[in-house]
Amino acid sequence: MDVKPDKTCPKCASTDYRFRGRKPVDANEKKALPAGTETKYQCAACGHQWKVRVAA
Ligand SMILES: [Zn+2]
Repeated sequence: MDVKPDKTCPKCASTDYRFRGRKPVDANEKKALPAGTETKYQCAACGHQWKVRVAA
């Protein structure tokens, strides 16, 4: 499995975004998600925040 983070803001497609934080996440049984790392970004252009989850 190879899940790459988005390279642009999902809202306005700007490439000018900032790293906001990263945290380990446990597997989520309800959503059937594997354990991994969740990285948070914020767009510098529109202020939209989003998270990118990468499987460990
Ligand atoms: Zn944006």
